Amino acid sequence: MVSIAVCSGKGGTGKTTVTANLAVAMAQYGRDVLVVDADIEMANLCFHLGVDGSSPTLHDVLAGKAELAEAVREAHGVKVLPGAISLKALKRADPERLEEVFSALEKHEIVLIDAPAGLGRPVLTALSVSEAALLVVNPEISSLSDALKTRVVAGKLDTKVLGAVINRWRGTAEEIPNRDIENVLEAKVLATIPEDTNVRASCSYGVPLVLYKPDSPAAQAVKKLAADLLGEEYRPPKKSLRERLKNLLVRL
Ligand code: ADP
Ligand code: MG
Repeated sequence: MVSIAVCSGKGGTGKTTVTANLAVAMAQYGRDVLVVDADIEMANLCFHLGVDGSSPTLHDVLAGKAELAEAVREAHGVKVLPGAISLKALKRADPERLEEVFSALEKHEIVLIDAPAGLGRPVLTALSVSEAALLVVNPEISSLSDALKTRVVAGKLDTKVLGAVINRWRGTAEEIPNRDIENVLEAKVLATIPEDTNVRASCSYGVPLVLYKPDSPAAQAVKKLAADLLGEEYRPPKKSLRERLKNLLVRL
């Protein structure tokens, strides 16, 4: 099993979006992938993957009210361990049991952990049980500063930082360039995912962008990331006949 914690430090950078899409993209390369919503307080992975967020969930497992296997569902080719969205379930869940749950996930080839923001106990647990971490960073100073803290903590916990995933990139002048992000984090930028209005729409339909708009630049960035992490060959989508003709005419 390979377990990867998807972290960022700051909230709202796109951890859940990246986790859901990366999981589906990895499954498209034939891997057995389980995604875990480890954002115990603000669970919402179920919406991104269009799965039922009602009991039994991870929260029921943490409350000792359900077995792990009962809480795992399947969607879009991946296994999903969702969290509950109700406050009642949150109150009953015992985060101290998270480590026990993670150690029971070993039968899956790849486990992606959608970590919460901050550096609280669930993040530390997610990082310490994971072999590796991805840092989801928006190209702005507040996001970079929070990602740096996460990076340092991951290092102290001996979790290998695979690199950074730049999300919501617009290519504007005020954005921090990738090479500066790499210098600050002492980590490689593995992917740059552009800002894309389809992300919100895909979440509304519960269909990850890699399936909802598979040829979009944002979906392609995630697919390439999945291929690179898995050591697979990435094949960009074929251009339409119209685009190919346009390119040909430009070259003539
Ligand atoms: P986190 O899990 O880090 O809190 P989410 O994945 O929930 O972040 O994303 C936060 C918000 O940003 C959501 O509304 C999501 O639709 C939006 N978002 C994420 N990535 C992108 C993107 N590449 N382009 C446009 N919107 C995005
Ligand atoms: Mg999230």
